[in-house]
Amino acid sequence: MKHQAKQSLNLSTAQALGLEQTHLVEFETKTKAKQKFLIHPSIKQSLQQLLKVAHQDGVNIAIVSAYRSFDRQLAIWNAKWIGNKTVLSADNQALEPSRLSLIEKFKAICHFSALPGFSRHHWGTDLDIFCADAISSGHQVELTDREFGPKGPCNQLNLWLNDNLEKLGFYRPYLRYQQGVAAEPWHISHYQTSTQILKSFNQSECFNHLKSAEIKDPDFIQTQLANYYQQYFCNLCPPESDNLVKENKK
Ligand SMILES: [Zn+2]
Repeated sequence: MKHQAKQSLNLSTAQALGLEQTHLVEFETKTKAKQKFLIHPSIKQSLQQLLKVAHQDGVNIAIVSAYRSFDRQLAIWNAKWIGNKTVLSADNQALEPSRLSLIEKFKAICHFSALPGFSRHHWGTDLDIFCADAISSGHQVELTDREFGPKGPCNQLNLWLNDNLEKLGFYRPYLRYQQGVAAEPWHISHYQTSTQILKSFNQSECFNHLKSAEIKDPDFIQTQLANYYQQYFCNLCPPESDNLVKENKK
């Protein structure tokens, strides 16, 4: 696994920003539903192993989101900005965007959603996962902390991830809230691949592309980019164990 992960991990700017899908391969789940997702090829083996080992331990994992394009992320962002999609406060209360200042609105949206171009879902290395059995018994996925808490449908999955995720090459970059993105225990990332991509991520090319994108209030957004980059994009929870980091340095 170590060897193949070293292959072409330097994405082009267009790939890293979710503008091109040429770095991705299709991944089909082995569940009855046979869902298809786009992922980075160097995570394929680890992902298959993760789903298999979890299943053997009685934990069935559903993938709810893998690759997401720039345009999809832009649509989510703009819909929240203009009030067509609910913007939640940090404690999950619906906010009224027209009553917020630009900076209040910006911070509220950044808590749960990445700016287009800055989503790790563009890379194909990061996935949102859920308890498959809860979905088959009719649970509507919300992706909230409560669902992964002691009384939530993903409690067993969460405990299993605590014990096994990093042994299988993945980690959770938003496991805890640390003044940036909200805690997202459902968001997993292939450590080796995403760390390499992050290292070569071209911040200024991303800023430049956003200037030409059809984002709402572009002048205001420009004033926030440098801070956004530090507070949200680079503000990641490190792996819980040293093993992943050591593996990567070999
Ligand atoms: Zn995610």
